[in-house]
Amino acid sequence: MKRFKQSKSKYSIVPQYESDGDDYETNADQTIGKVSKKRRKQRKKMWIFDRKFTSKIEAMEFIKSQKIWGYHYTNDTKDGMKKYYRCKNVPRRHIQCDASIYLHFMTRSFDIHLYKTESIHNCESINAEYGSQKAGSTTNGSK
Ligand SMILES: [Zn+2]
Repeated sequence: MKRFKQSKSKYSIVPQYESDGDDYETNADQTIGKVSKKRRKQRKKMWIFDRKFTSKIEAMEFIKSQKIWGYHYTNDTKDGMKKYYRCKNVPRRHIQCDASIYLHFMTRSFDIHLYKTESIHNCESINAEYGSQKAGSTTNGSK
């Protein structure tokens, strides 16, 4: 009996250590949960780091050279300002193309990081729909 009890107590020690670890992990999850709650307002987008610029001019020149990005909005964050750009292939007051980019102006350095969405351009299909609507309304208006 004694031997059995000993082995039982040994077992009870193991889960205790495990639960300690779990508690720690739950705390970490809670902090992550708070952050994601703040972000919930924005549409869910997967951002991928694309490239780094060492000056604002360099970053702006790159965006200009791409010719498809139009300034959308700026978001001030703890880590620095984030300037979002939308795909100009779709009208501003319309469903936006899934593809977009943002520049992250780092607070602690002069580096500017360019992030882009994981999604590919769907502006053509948006425009096809928009164009057919528009074409329909102009023919109605002219005749
Ligand atoms: Zn697009």
